[in-house]
Amino acid sequence: MSLQLGVIGTGAIGQDHIRRCSQTLQGCRVVAVTDIDPQQAARVLDGLTLEAEVYPDGHALIQAPEVQALLVTSWGPSHEEFVLAAIAAGKPVFCEKPLAVTAAGCRRIVEAEIAHGRRLVQVGFMRPYDAGYQALKAVVDSGRIGEPLMLHCAHRNPRVGENYKTDMAITDTLIHELDVLRWLLADDYVSVQVLFPRKTGKAHAQLRDPQIVLLETARGTRIDVEIFVNCQYGYDIQCEVVGESGIARLPEPPQVQLRSAASLSSAILMDWKGRFIAAYDVELQAFVDGVRAGRVGGPSAWDGLAAAVAADACIEAQQSGAIVPISLPQRPALYACPPGFL
Ligand code: NAP
Repeated sequence: MSLQLGVIGTGAIGQDHIRRCSQTLQGCRVVAVTDIDPQQAARVLDGLTLEAEVYPDGHALIQAPEVQALLVTSWGPSHEEFVLAAIAAGKPVFCEKPLAVTAAGCRRIVEAEIAHGRRLVQVGFMRPYDAGYQALKAVVDSGRIGEPLMLHCAHRNPRVGENYKTDMAITDTLIHELDVLRWLLADDYVSVQVLFPRKTGKAHAQLRDPQIVLLETARGTRIDVEIFVNCQYGYDIQCEVVGESGIARLPEPPQVQLRSAASLSSAILMDWKGRFIAAYDVELQAFVDGVRAGRVGGPSAWDGLAAAVAADACIEAQQSGAIVPISLPQRPALYACPPGFL
């Protein structure tokens, strides 16, 4: 029987996941939806010609007997209460990032899950499900380039709006690197420093752009991530691992190579939405398959907490200019597998 899903939040990514679960994935169907504006949820169902119950709020939906598992795709500050309610109801929950907007909120979720006694939460960090990152990790894990010594990474967007503030370079942009690089290296961060190069003239007055984030891991690997969100030319994700005996690079997304008018070229994406689109399908299918088989895997509440703790340190480092320590508590037994595990 199909896994019956309830979706809380029918904005951009909520609609995308409802369409994905209804039209692309196997073994699941959306039976209930809600939004802060239930009429908006009903309009989304109409647009997809989908029949499902519209609930007045997330808590009523979580309690609904036909809902076997939850997708939380509402506004970030509402995630914690819905994930805690799902755990209290004993229902598996896929929560879009962030797991909670504070590290303290993530800790409360970890504690609730530990008290429950088994994993119920998967966090929507999708990059570990991207075929390019998986290929890169396979090379790193194979030992072909030796131990990873340094990573050079970039996260570039063509431009951002006036509402994008300096700290959002961490909470909205770097957060994906904070998750995926920890997974890639199966290592935890121990410190961070943030440097601000000369500011681009293309950024609005209050935004410091670009930024360079320097992370150090427990094994001593050094990572530099350039965040440049007004780079103009495209949405560009780079990751190069320098090992003891070789270098491995994240593959570019497939693009036709063009020889024309005396030049050799290939296009660069302009919109982030297209870059990891296949990974969203894979991560949600993994959630559905896992729940149907009686387990929840993938990025855990502990990974959500690790990203939140690192993000807090990054913001402190932005403000102080100092090297800020990053310290996670002892990993609880429930999350015994290392960060490289999916
Ligand atoms: P969005 O378009 O603003 O959608 C959020 C929806 O949730 C809105 O319809 C909002 O209603 C609704 N909502 C807010 N509070 C609610 C509540 N208490 N109960 C029910 N519904 C509520 O935002 P989005 O772009 O879809 O992002 C949603 C989440 O997904 C964010 O946490 C974001 O970081 C994450 N996300 C992740 C990725 C990824 O790459 N993994 C990509 C995109 C988004 P109002 O508009 O009326 O407030």
